[in-house]
Amino acid sequence: THDSMVADTTTTATCGYCSTGCGLRLHLRDGEAVGLTPETQYPVNLGMACPKGWEALRVLDSDERATTPLLRDANGKMQPIEWEAAFTTFVDKMRGVQEKHGQDSVAFLSTGQIPSEEMAFLGALARFGMGIRHGDGNTRQCMATAVTAYKESFGFDAPPFTYDDFEQSDCLIFIGANPCIGHPIMWERVLRNPNTPEIIVIDPRRTETAMAATQHLQVKPKHDLAILYAITKLLIDNGYVDRQFVEGHTNGFEELCEHVSQFDVDTVAHAAGVSVGSLEQVAHTIGTRKAVSLWWTMGVNQSYEGTRTAQAMINIALITGNIGRPGTGANSITGQCNAMGSRLWSGTTNLLGHHSFASEQDRQKVADVLGFDSECIPTTSSWRYDRIIEGVRNGEIKALWVIATNPAHSWIDQADVKELFGKLDFLVVQDMYDTTETAEHADLIFPTAGWGEKEGTFINSERRYGLLKKVRRAPGQALSDFQILRGIAHYWGVGEQFAEWTDPEAVFRIMQRASRGQPCDITGIDGYAHIDRCGGIQWPWTEADAAATGSSEPPQQRRLFEDGRFFYDDGKAKLIVDDITPMPEPPTQKYPVTLLTGRGTVSQWHTQTRTKQSPVLGMLYPQEAYVEINPVDADEWEIVHGDTVTIESRRGKIEANACVTATVRRGQAFIPMHYAETNQLTLSHFDPHSGQPSYKDCAVRITPKAPQ
Ligand code: SF4
Repeated sequence: THDSMVADTTTTATCGYCSTGCGLRLHLRDGEAVGLTPETQYPVNLGMACPKGWEALRVLDSDERATTPLLRDANGKMQPIEWEAAFTTFVDKMRGVQEKHGQDSVAFLSTGQIPSEEMAFLGALARFGMGIRHGDGNTRQCMATAVTAYKESFGFDAPPFTYDDFEQSDCLIFIGANPCIGHPIMWERVLRNPNTPEIIVIDPRRTETAMAATQHLQVKPKHDLAILYAITKLLIDNGYVDRQFVEGHTNGFEELCEHVSQFDVDTVAHAAGVSVGSLEQVAHTIGTRKAVSLWWTMGVNQSYEGTRTAQAMINIALITGNIGRPGTGANSITGQCNAMGSRLWSGTTNLLGHHSFASEQDRQKVADVLGFDSECIPTTSSWRYDRIIEGVRNGEIKALWVIATNPAHSWIDQADVKELFGKLDFLVVQDMYDTTETAEHADLIFPTAGWGEKEGTFINSERRYGLLKKVRRAPGQALSDFQILRGIAHYWGVGEQFAEWTDPEAVFRIMQRASRGQPCDITGIDGYAHIDRCGGIQWPWTEADAAATGSSEPPQQRRLFEDGRFFYDDGKAKLIVDDITPMPEPPTQKYPVTLLTGRGTVSQWHTQTRTKQSPVLGMLYPQEAYVEINPVDADEWEIVHGDTVTIESRRGKIEANACVTATVRRGQAFIPMHYAETNQLTLSHFDPHSGQPSYKDCAVRITPKAPQ
């Protein structure tokens, strides 16, 4: 990048796309980044980066950057305004809506893409300063089921693993996960595994990871929970249970045995489209390998029974004693660079530091930490994302503040969302780019600094705090989200209340205080310089840990539950089971195909807001939407590879280019989520325990495009 300019020094910062949290070495000239290379010394990526990381600076230079606040005028045109006018307009409009329609008529939707300090500030300012009770993150779309699953099973939302486990496992099971594409550096860590591991993939699609696996169970969509229960039954029936671990460290084993005994393995296998032998082989592999790890991502999370599916994986790890040892674990890989930060610090589902809004004791503790009156802390969590959208639909929400996310592209049943924006009295979009599908509907746009243009911390999938550094000036008048929040606090008249929230590191210190005594305690971290010096620090790292080790450098790879103690009072994990839920929209004669959606390439990210700004990344991915169709189906429907086809669900109709491939089975199709039109088709339904949308199972029909 920018190789014609010679750097005079370097510094290392964490990448700002995905939850892997790679370290990137930034090459600086006069304090400005002019290039980057993957950091060889960073414990996460060990000198590797994917194309998105390599192009992280390029996307900052785009012409589509928002450089000045914009306000929609009486003729519907966006006009540049000064920041003071932007802040006063924001305050007047939001206050006006609250006065007219009630305090709860204003809500926010935020993101897993901003640092923890900005999330903490946003949550605290909105909920404790501005009286906005309802605000949720786009993290609801990617990992809410994992949060609920861990919380119920372990007593705290605690992904137990460390990336060394990829290299220490002798059997890795990926369910609804395609790390070759979704988490390529994690996959590189798998490839470094010296144990010749068994790699098992359970996925309806023959993904890149499935192609590299030693066993692939190409199950029909939404049969994963039944398959996991059948495997659990086989593990129990064949004596593969670690009885000592079960008795000493879990509750609910008898209920689990009773529940899975109802599942006839032949029937489950037949319904799922796999052989009984393949299920027996998986059970045998789990039962006979020494260090088995189970990994999941969106194929499990984005499902109407995602929480229970994740817990079925957790159950398998627990009953076979595959947790708390190197190379083991029931491990949720999350998506966004700071989805993990959002889990602890956004103040939406959980009170700052994963406390409970419902607990008076927790509210008082957090109020004391913040120096606030506990009365200003709501006694309930925010509405979930889907309920906020519902609130817009039925007129309860009249003003919406959208921060670093693009629901007009990413939310399920997208056509409906676009229509809903028209019902709002006021829509504020705070983003790096003023060209997103959501920004098109905005009344007011706040231009923001992006990755590399501000400071803070991200938490990666293995619970590692990594540093984001300012190595560029933001363009025009763009400000960091932190500075914007400071401005809002001032103009809202609560600047005094947030007097301590002066800069990201000051907020990090507040976060440390709020974490004290929690499983995510980080009181042993000595500020940003410490994180920088250590190549990131995993939570927990307490003052007591630091004192006990006598070292300021925490061990680099720490996993949870090595002592077999979980976060419930009795120290035991819960084995949780549930009934199977029928598919809400099964295939019919009119809509005979089940549509899968997901990540299509290593080079694109979510709604392409940033990645589309890089010509290099653009070259690595088809610009027009494509749909994967099985060759036998294509033949029957008289579709040839490359034809334009129409895909229609009960909610919408789109066109795409046919990609005829055996990656999908007959009766299934796959469209990447990166295309703006994909979510015109999806069905608005959710996992009841977490509120996560189920993106991967709507019914469609595919036909050749009619000649013009
Ligand atoms: Fe960045 Fe993720 Fe790529 Fe690493 S794998 S360089 S964190 S996008």
